[in-house]
Amino acid sequence: MKILKSLSRESFREDFGTKEQCLSYLSSEKWGNNYQCIKCKNEKYSKGKKSFNRRCTKCGYDESPTANTLFHKVKFGIDKAFEMAYDISRSKKGANSVWLAERHGIKQMAAWLFRRKVQQAMKSSEQFPLEQEVHVDEFEIGTPQKGEPGRSKSEHKVRVVIALEYRDGKAGRGYAKIIKDYSSKSLEKIFHKHISKEAKITTDGWSGYKPLMKEYPHFEQKLSDKGQNFKMLHIQIRNFKNWLRGVHSYYSKDTMNQYIEEYFFRFNRLNFRYSILNKLLSRMVKENPMNYKSMKYNVT
Ligand SMILES: [Zn+2]
Repeated sequence: MKILKSLSRESFREDFGTKEQCLSYLSSEKWGNNYQCIKCKNEKYSKGKKSFNRRCTKCGYDESPTANTLFHKVKFGIDKAFEMAYDISRSKKGANSVWLAERHGIKQMAAWLFRRKVQQAMKSSEQFPLEQEVHVDEFEIGTPQKGEPGRSKSEHKVRVVIALEYRDGKAGRGYAKIIKDYSSKSLEKIFHKHISKEAKITTDGWSGYKPLMKEYPHFEQKLSDKGQNFKMLHIQIRNFKNWLRGVHSYYSKDTMNQYIEEYFFRFNRLNFRYSILNKLLSRMVKENPMNYKSMKYNVT
């Protein structure tokens, strides 16, 4: 896996500035030395119709490096697609589709669709639960409604539960999920997916957490002290809300989960910033293509 020498755009363009560089990278991520024809499983290939394509020597199937990946049928050019992935992986405020469309001279719809694919690759693998000290809390956030950009009186409240890990007194990794209410049934999802049984968990005094104490032996509840107990967590919640408001003029409950995944994909890799783009690109190669119908178009 390639690691950027620096996070600057110049450095990115040095590595991925041309279509050839992008295709060459995709080809090595996708096949490397492990080519196998997806039609007949043959492991030998020759050059295909276009550069970086591989053609099966047995059945003749000619496959491009973008086929069967999230880069499948990207119409605006693979180099632009890479740079958009770079923008999304870099931007602290998150590069929204309006901004991406303007910056790259493409239609907003195309930018939105591609952005949605990038988010797909940012979804948590749910393989690395939070450990050590974990604080869990809930909060609400308004979702502006269609046709009413920004926050308005008629916004719908969405409830979110967040779990944040502490390592040596500093914020470690985190996860969040939309919940329909504050019942144990709703709250337990983030525990089961993202928190290790060995973790030392702290929550506020809410009774909805009580049934979880049976499953998690190191569980403590602290009465809320106007936020004093969870200072660091509240700072993170504020950062997250600010980011969410800045990234998108409209979001629904459906799309919000995708933004949550995106936020924490980046957040959980703050210490690995030089490899974050490569991690993202590599996941985009492994994910199956998404078609338009499988996505909900929810942007104004
Ligand atoms: Zn074949």
